[in-house]
Amino acid sequence: MEKNENGSLYHIAIAVNNLSDAEKLYEDVVGLKITHREEIPEQGVRATMLQPAGKTGTAIELLEAIDESSPIAKFIEKKGEGIHHICFYVDDIEKSLNELKDKGVKLIDEKPRIGAYNSKVAFIHPKAMNGVLVELAEVSKETD
Ligand code: ZN
Repeated sequence: MEKNENGSLYHIAIAVNNLSDAEKLYEDVVGLKITHREEIPEQGVRATMLQPAGKTGTAIELLEAIDESSPIAKFIEKKGEGIHHICFYVDDIEKSLNELKDKGVKLIDEKPRIGAYNSKVAFIHPKAMNGVLVELAEVSKETD
């Protein structure tokens, strides 16, 4: 797989009530294929990644809450199902976070955490990004 360029869109994440229903919808309506499923207890979510056939192009990440304390459960309670965050590739997440800190950008994660799909991720506060929750991801290519 080609290296993904710093700043290119990796995925759009959608908070859903029912993961298997949502998977079916994105397969049937949009024709996407499931490329990965993962449970991330630290983040309180079950996640499914879908991509166009050929596994290139921007992915859709469907997120279902594991339990009521999950941030996804809280999001849906407040706003209903819908777009939860967008995620951009970065080459070096520590470097990106340090640069953002220097610029005074409000971060949710000062340090990267382990995300799905063998990635290191960090979230920028939506207040710093026009109301959009933005995730940065450094994805190891070795497992692709
Ligand atoms: Zn994400």
